[in-house]
Amino acid sequence: MTRWPPHDERILELLREALADGSWSAYHGEWIDRLEATLRQSFSAAHIRLTCSGTIAVELALRGVGVTAEHEVILAGYDFPGNFRAIEAIGARPVLVDVAPGGWTIDVEQLEPARTSQTRAVIISHLHGQLAPVARIRAWCDDHDVALVEDACQVPGASIAGRPAGAWGDVAALSFGGSKLLTAGRGGAVLTSSDAIVQRITVFADRGNDAFPLSQLQATALLPQLDSLADDTRRRASAANRLRERLKSTPGISLPDELERDSVAAYYKLGFQLLETDMEQAVGVRARFLEHARTCGLPIGEGFRGFHLRSRRRCRKVGELPHTRSASERTVLLHHTALLRDEAEIDRLAHDLSAAIASVSSTR
Ligand SMILES: *Cc1c(COP(=O)(O)O)cnc(C)c1O
Repeated sequence: MTRWPPHDERILELLREALADGSWSAYHGEWIDRLEATLRQSFSAAHIRLTCSGTIAVELALRGVGVTAEHEVILAGYDFPGNFRAIEAIGARPVLVDVAPGGWTIDVEQLEPARTSQTRAVIISHLHGQLAPVARIRAWCDDHDVALVEDACQVPGASIAGRPAGAWGDVAALSFGGSKLLTAGRGGAVLTSSDAIVQRITVFADRGNDAFPLSQLQATALLPQLDSLADDTRRRASAANRLRERLKSTPGISLPDELERDSVAAYYKLGFQLLETDMEQAVGVRARFLEHARTCGLPIGEGFRGFHLRSRRRCRKVGELPHTRSASERTVLLHHTALLRDEAEIDRLAHDLSAAIASVSSTR
């Protein structure tokens, strides 16, 4: 098993420095300043607001674009559960649209049928190694004066058409949670280049003090990881491509397509869907698959549960959300630690995954 986070001497060095000079106990200081400067550069954002989690970063992002209790916010029926809660926390109404068939990102075609005069924002998430079609979404948002909130929590280091994931939205969220690609155990950030957005966030989050802070110690842990982010992203992407190549002719499984050449994928989790055609059987087949895969020691689990079963009192649904249901019942996620391995180990991984798929097919 690949350990996460990996042991990193550079983090120890910075920690020693912060402990030796007492800077670790300051609310603000060199480490936070350096982290903010690095993030501004890496994500082409004029402003960074560091936060105590990605979940709160999404809520602050919504508040930043002016979402209030009078508004509706469009999001995909399959998404991180905290994003639905963030909309509710403001008192606004979640409006669910379907994901694109076979994947996990919002279906652009569903935005227009979802729009009303109350629509203030759209949340899009890049999930499980798949990047949302941001250029088209950006254009739609601009045409209709709807704010774009980009959840880049799973994809730091990714880019789309040469521009970083997280730089397409009016505002974006990052997570530095324990299992994430950049980790400080906890933490997050809001990114934006809009003065008005950062101003609204400041008004909400500063209560005489920063109410959702990230500490100097956390900043020391993140700095070296940002230095190696581009290299690590490349290593994981090449492992994911190798795995895709090995598994592409395996029946019963669908992996997201490889990206256009001007884009770079990031893999917090590598997602795929088990192609069980009888939807009534899908959940059971997945459970058996996971049981088998875990006995081989694979770091693997199921995807999000989806919001398609949420009550109509809590949200408005656009259509029946069939692809959301499919994603919520068939998704399997391989954790990124599986991707930081050498080629022979990736081949073994592909073999174990095929065997687990074959084992559930034969018991159908
Ligand atoms: C992890 C994650 C978050 C929130 O992150 P926390 O820091 O754990 O609160 C938000 N969105 C997505 C897609 C995530 O994967």
